[in-house]
Amino acid sequence: MTRSPVWHPFTQHGLEPPMKKVIETEGAYLIDEAGNRILDAISSWWVVTHGHRHPTIMEAIRRATDSYDQVIFAEYTHAPAEELARGLIKVSPAGLEHVFYSDSGSTAVEVALKMALGFFHNTGRRRDRIVVMEHGYHGDTIGTMSVGERGVFNAAYEPLLFGVDRLAFPEPGSEQQTLDAFHRLCRSGKVAALLIEPLILGAGGMKMFEPSLLGRLSEIARSHDVLFIADEVMTGWGRTGTLFACDQAGICPDILCTSKGLTGGAMPLAATLCTSEIFDAHVSTDRRKTFFHSSSYTANPIACAAAVANLEIWANEPVQARIDRLAALQEKALRRFANDRRFMNVRQTGTIAALDMAVRSEGYLADIGPHLRSFFRDRHLLIRPLGNVIYLMPPYCVSEAEIDRLYDAIDEAADELIGTAA
Ligand SMILES: *Cc1c(COP(=O)(O)O)cnc(C)c1O
Repeated sequence: MTRSPVWHPFTQHGLEPPMKKVIETEGAYLIDEAGNRILDAISSWWVVTHGHRHPTIMEAIRRATDSYDQVIFAEYTHAPAEELARGLIKVSPAGLEHVFYSDSGSTAVEVALKMALGFFHNTGRRRDRIVVMEHGYHGDTIGTMSVGERGVFNAAYEPLLFGVDRLAFPEPGSEQQTLDAFHRLCRSGKVAALLIEPLILGAGGMKMFEPSLLGRLSEIARSHDVLFIADEVMTGWGRTGTLFACDQAGICPDILCTSKGLTGGAMPLAATLCTSEIFDAHVSTDRRKTFFHSSSYTANPIACAAAVANLEIWANEPVQARIDRLAALQEKALRRFANDRRFMNVRQTGTIAALDMAVRSEGYLADIGPHLRSFFRDRHLLIRPLGNVIYLMPPYCVSEAEIDRLYDAIDEAADELIGTAA
């Protein structure tokens, strides 16, 4: 067999086994060319919400291809983009009135940062500091790496990354310190925006914090005219138990980024929503105040049609009930690990559950990581721990029996691996 020319993401080709070739997806499963049904416990990197190939979304994509391919999105618009924008505004936190499209979570965040800086620039104020939270993740472009946690992932690119102000993660008991630090930064008068993943810091290790903290951060931001940017790329579309994580804190961000579950996980698409105030700051007879951003595939009509179908599913199917059911299943399954010395920090927010394996080497490159991954891979389970952090984020169609199977495997993995790799 000749070697594939494909360079895969987040893959050490010098160590990892050959790729499994997927020939079909269905519900909670990937099906490989040998006919194995692989249980997708991480929703194919957190994008698939309802399940793979939801018929309503597939049909919408087919229908859209009867009329569209790509349409330039300056000077021109189209029904799927218009309908989607109206639908998004209707379901998102109050105050978000405009929708800017792009094609990935990273670009949604880049757009958010540019909106924030453009807002202050166009209104004649010098504010250019961005405040973020320790352990945050916002993407892999140079800009989004700059606002994310620094580490092994971006050491090589460090010279190109811009500086930001970082708040300590609000560990239980130290929330007030995080709030005080934010207050101090705001008082400098230089802060343009707080950028945060609400309720769960995903790629940084599924680190969870309380909705009340989000509310207090939002209040501090508001009292200093600092924009609040919610990166809901992972948390959106029900993951945390509500449509958006911000809903649980009752907060209305100035800017909200959404991508992964926006099309139910079927097509690449992103949207950055903002307030009228931010949009209006870019509306002028002065062409220098234009929002200078675009991707070639901005608002691809087929992707927008898939997202409109996703909104229809939310409107017409008992999605919230499925989310509540999955959250309850996770809660029940996690109980058996509550006082288990093999695990630490057993935790859950909505449909997402996580637990840390008690090993000496922690972090993304924890020794146990590759062992865990191949353990699950051998059992046709798609679980990709973040170092020693095991998490499950399955699509909402997953069954109770499938959840049990996943936790049985985690239990077994702990027995088999903790001694060997600790
Ligand atoms: C995945 C993710 C991103 C980046 O999205 P991509 O589509 O991979 O560029 C940004 N923010 C958060 C919170 C994410 O989880």
